[in-house]
Amino acid sequence: VEELVRADPDDRPSDLELGRFVDHHCHPVVHHDLTRPAFEALMSEASGRSPLGTTLFDSMLGLAIRRWCAPVLGLEALASADAYLDRRLTLGATEANARLVEAAGIETFLVDTGIRGDGLGSANDLASLSAGSTREIVRLETLAEDILRARVRPSDFVWEFEQRLRSSGAVAAKSIAAYRTGLDLPSTKPSDDALVATLTDVYVRADEGLRLAEPIVHGWLAWTAIDLGLPLQIHVGYGDSDLDLLSSDPLRLTPFLRATEERLVPVLLLHNYPFHRQAAYLAQVFDHVFMDVGLATHNTGALSEHVLREALELVPFGKLLFSSDAYGLAELYLLGSRLFRRNLETLLTALVEQGEMTLTDASYVGALVGRENARRVYRLDDGGTAAVDR
Ligand SMILES: [Zn+2]
Repeated sequence: VEELVRADPDDRPSDLELGRFVDHHCHPVVHHDLTRPAFEALMSEASGRSPLGTTLFDSMLGLAIRRWCAPVLGLEALASADAYLDRRLTLGATEANARLVEAAGIETFLVDTGIRGDGLGSANDLASLSAGSTREIVRLETLAEDILRARVRPSDFVWEFEQRLRSSGAVAAKSIAAYRTGLDLPSTKPSDDALVATLTDVYVRADEGLRLAEPIVHGWLAWTAIDLGLPLQIHVGYGDSDLDLLSSDPLRLTPFLRATEERLVPVLLLHNYPFHRQAAYLAQVFDHVFMDVGLATHNTGALSEHVLREALELVPFGKLLFSSDAYGLAELYLLGSRLFRRNLETLLTALVEQGEMTLTDASYVGALVGRENARRVYRLDDGGTAAVDR
């Protein structure tokens, strides 16, 4: 096993030492053993294998799992999908998760706990799997839906929501407006009265199946995070089939970004693919905008270098963050991190070799992107951003 792991070309010599990463957007991991259909259902944004297609291992992501995860579980690189899943079952989910998450080299996980999937662990489980630490990101829509389900009256909603957001202990808030009504967030905050009127409508229908999808509500939630000074993560681009990708172009956020810029509360555009070039543009021109290429990195596997390269064309080095956007499968933390690390190393090393930057420049950029930007933006060193009125 040791031989195989050491023979892995990931250990190629490099003068550039990127160190451990801060993962600024990820989700909890699934703790139980997985059958092949259950594993495939968690691999990508597809809900599972299509009856009209072939296995989801027939993809760049499938190759990346066989290529990079198999050696961590003690198999040869590119072992078959069947051999890989058998080995995973033999080791057991706990051991496989520990090996994969530990090998990801992540020191801090900022975890979005807003999806309550089957068998998902807690944010803290990630820390115990890797000797790292975790901080929580509160999903605005989930918090709002919880409050409405608890039958808080719309007239009390504003007070209740602000209280719960302030006392959440989270280092940031996340908006999934892209999934519900698209990214046309308003350039002024909807009034509390307009919010209460909309919620009164929603409230009558509120039950376990409650799902907010009202432009006024998503606009109010995003503006409230800004008002409280909480960094605001926004889902952009690539996601599952719940999403209308047409309405998820970050350029739709331009009026909102223009209107919120002077507050200097960080707005972090997540995922972005295939709009990562648009996101890089926004990060360049708006003081408070940041971006990542998470999710697309593991999904595009060996071809992901191209995605990072396109983002790097414009994004200022102080505005790009690492994220895995791993969800459920421990494999996705490893892939998100290892592929991103390799891509950043390759691109920066090439620039050094071409005489376009020094090795010192490259190390500095690597540290910014891998850790320091996240530490600064989320104020991780002073215990996170306290939600206070600014
Ligand atoms: Zn995510």
